[in-house]
Amino acid sequence: MQVCSTCEASTRCGLKDEGLFDLCPKIKTAEKTVKPEVEKEATTAVIDKEILRRYFGYSEFRQLQQDIILDVLKGNNVLVLMPTGGGKSLCYQYPSLLFKGLTIVVSPLIALMKNQVDNLRQNGIAAEYINSSLNYEDITKIKSALLQNRIRLLYVAPERLTIPTFLSFLKGLKISLFAIDEAHCISEWGHDFRPEYRQLKIIGTSFPDVPIIALTATATTKVREDIITQIELKDCKKYIASFNRENLVYYVKPKQDAFSQIVEFLKTKPHESGIIYCYSRKNVDALTENLKYAGFRALPYHAGLSANIRSANQDKFIKDDVEILVATIAFGMGIDKPNIRFVIHNDLPKNLEAYYQETGRAGRDGLRSDCVLFYSYGDRQKIEYFINQMTNEKERLIAHNKLNDIINFCETIVCRRKLLLGYFGEEYIETKCSGCDNCLTPKDEIEATGEILAILSCIEELDEMFGINYCIDVLTGSKSSRVMQNGHTGLKSYGSGKNLPKKTWHGFIRELLSRSYLNLEGEYPVLKLCQKSREMLAGSKSGVTNEKIFLVKPRVAEKPAIIEQDTDEMGLFDALRTLRKTLADAENYPPYMIFNDATLKQMAARRPCTPEDFRKITGVGEKKLERYGAIFMGEIRRFCEKNDPSSKPIKKHSSEYVTLEMLGQDMDLDEITLKRNLSLNTIYDHIEKLIIAGENINIEKFIKKEKIEVISRVIHELGGKTLKPIKEKLGDNYSYGEIKLVRAKMN
Ligand code: ADP
Ligand code: ZN
Repeated sequence: MQVCSTCEASTRCGLKDEGLFDLCPKIKTAEKTVKPEVEKEATTAVIDKEILRRYFGYSEFRQLQQDIILDVLKGNNVLVLMPTGGGKSLCYQYPSLLFKGLTIVVSPLIALMKNQVDNLRQNGIAAEYINSSLNYEDITKIKSALLQNRIRLLYVAPERLTIPTFLSFLKGLKISLFAIDEAHCISEWGHDFRPEYRQLKIIGTSFPDVPIIALTATATTKVREDIITQIELKDCKKYIASFNRENLVYYVKPKQDAFSQIVEFLKTKPHESGIIYCYSRKNVDALTENLKYAGFRALPYHAGLSANIRSANQDKFIKDDVEILVATIAFGMGIDKPNIRFVIHNDLPKNLEAYYQETGRAGRDGLRSDCVLFYSYGDRQKIEYFINQMTNEKERLIAHNKLNDIINFCETIVCRRKLLLGYFGEEYIETKCSGCDNCLTPKDEIEATGEILAILSCIEELDEMFGINYCIDVLTGSKSSRVMQNGHTGLKSYGSGKNLPKKTWHGFIRELLSRSYLNLEGEYPVLKLCQKSREMLAGSKSGVTNEKIFLVKPRVAEKPAIIEQDTDEMGLFDALRTLRKTLADAENYPPYMIFNDATLKQMAARRPCTPEDFRKITGVGEKKLERYGAIFMGEIRRFCEKNDPSSKPIKKHSSEYVTLEMLGQDMDLDEITLKRNLSLNTIYDHIEKLIIAGENINIEKFIKKEKIEVISRVIHELGGKTLKPIKEKLGDNYSYGEIKLVRAKMN
């Protein structure tokens, strides 16, 4: 017989390892007290923060979560539109704990189900999945647990619901809720249409009385309407959260030498995870090799790799064995990694929807994450070339418009967030955000009419037959052999731009290209004048126009802002991250499943050393406290001692210090009390202080192992704040001194 980790008793509920905690009689009574007839009448009383804390480790609900949960508990059909990282899963996971019957979660990716279920079990919630990866025996076991109502959440793929035998099995269960995750998969207008989702109509017909919650991170109205009609969500309540991803910082950088720019950026993110998106498989492979060569841990991901390699690479990324995944856009939905700290677009994304989706994979855990897009005129031309090959005129037009939108996003000098949200129909009221390059470092414009004319005249003099670099060589009066041989030293333009560095001329020409004053044409691209620039040249020659033109003042290439971090805090964060990785590998979990980055950051900042403080950290529920609390607190303590000697308050020659010396000489407690003429209680007090101060004292020398186990169990159960109830529960066989030592050791 096992011992139940929840009630600490030898009962048949000891099934925690199968996630079937709810057989524990203690939990049953605890739940009964918070479990009125929720299905008949949901009131705010049902929103119990203690459940939120205990099972999820959160102290508050997020925007909309509470309202959604109340509606779900009332039995309404609900549609939830919330961006990635918004906290959708809580909207059905929390109610599932209060419902009498089962919550069925429909989820499109079999590969993700195991993770989701493991994650719930880590928090002590009885969850299972049924899919093709399980054998007959496994499924039979789960079915029998379902029949006994021992499971709160069951994850299935949509096609499973259409299997008649499975459907009739479900009809024999009490089902309280269907949650349809990634509900946009039902719509052809979405980016991930899955025909199997169309069959979900069956839920409404087979279980007309069971409410449905459909959730998605896709915002478009078309998809939204499609979901409602396709699943037949009757009288459904809609919740639309803001799609602003506040923790994402958007940068667009002119692409000069993309590889060194990426390397510079990566150097500012040691040990952090990120995805780099490239246009083609070839680019992915080349960039991965170069990054590896430069000493980064990177792996490729694209449709040209075998399924095995792809899944192995993805697995290494999720487990933090490599930091960087270089991917084509093929790498998408199948990832649920909360600590992606950056997304780089090495090439221009297809359109703004794609850009939002791809950057959206960063920062699911709510911590600041960077999105960097390297933009070049050449990339724009590449995409234009492909669009022009399209034979369907309507499609070509749409593609052109979408390209223009993304180019507009790249070239804008106003807030990028505002523009992005505006594109999805959401108004961002602020004029500035603090999370895009344009708002963080506004671009200065300078009047550059003279410079522009110098460039245009130079191109004209060169008969529009030379590329950017050559033009700049002529402007700046280069003595290169090519310029000499071509006899271009005699041109009027030669040296006319000597006063400015080459980089500045590059910047100006790039902007003129993007503003359609210039064009690049040909296999070896040469600069061509456009209508606008011809008019400008002609005007200046005849002295008719005196139009002033402004260009963005070129800046010295800046590095992405690095958030100032307390270095001590970072050191502890790194130590905790290493510990997490070791534990995760031992248990074969992705590290984030133990604690996510946000939780580790808070630990590093607050340094909790008692269970009371540890459970106040967001993301620490009871199960995790029990499982990992001591070991993480131990690491925190070790770190504090190593880095802050003053945290060892035991002074030399103090009374405690003398006791410590005697312990070091292997004296037992009787000998010490005798020699020092002090009471046993006082010596216990000394040892308690010594342990708290971080001295490594083995208490098994003074207290029997079995006694230590019993005492720690009671402390776990009652909390360690006050000693009296612990002593009362333990009885006369245990002394206050012994309890104090065990408590100090546990902390
Ligand atoms: P989504 O499914 O919308 O992408 P998740 O449900 O995965 O989002 O939640 C995203 C992150 O937010 C997770 O790391 C989760 O731990 C955290 N989270 C969700 N709700 C809360 C809350 N009420 N308080 C603190 N963190 C939360
Ligand atoms: Zn902004």
